[in-house]
Amino acid sequence: MFIELTELLRCPAHPDETYCVLSSEETVGRIVTRGTIGCPICRAEYAIENGTVKFGIDPLLGADSRSDDITLEEMLDPETVQALLSVEGSGYVVLLGSAARLSNGLAELAPGIQLIGVNAPPDVGESPIISLLQAAADIPLRSSVVHGAVIGREYAVEPWLAEGVRVLIDNMRLVVGGESVTVTGAKRLAAERGLWVGVKTGLP
Ligand SMILES: [Zn+2]
Repeated sequence: MFIELTELLRCPAHPDETYCVLSSEETVGRIVTRGTIGCPICRAEYAIENGTVKFGIDPLLGADSRSDDITLEEMLDPETVQALLSVEGSGYVVLLGSAARLSNGLAELAPGIQLIGVNAPPDVGESPIISLLQAAADIPLRSSVVHGAVIGREYAVEPWLAEGVRVLIDNMRLVVGGESVTVTGAKRLAAERGLWVGVKTGLP
């Protein structure tokens, strides 16, 4: 996990959004490989192991559905996803589930973007190009902090769709691996070739 990501993290135990506290035990450059994320409100502590922050257990960990499923990067190349996201310059992009497999391509295309993988499949390991988080039922980031979000097909259901919208900054885009999804709080821009693309409206 990048040290700078600490200020975006949110404790999943309650709706209050406050800054979490990082206690690092082992770092490599700007990356924390071992340590603890603490919540000043409820005093919960979340371990950072092998660079991954463990806020909860990935509900699809070890699930056959993910390995057998058609994943986002098999449908689309990183160039297309980057164009759909319309993210340039700097900022954060969340990649949920199998969408984390786009990280190498996106990092090459947009080196200024910081990638955050949530519940990435096991074949996406900790690396300097992506911060990895694990969570049980939410995206453990504060609201309105990321410039783009890509939701893998296996996570194209609630509560993950609503979470994708919540963490997005207004007028930024969400790309979902699934054409026929209904996403509250985002306006559909396109739905074709197995993907849904929308923009956060900022309206309830
Ligand atoms: Zn807490």
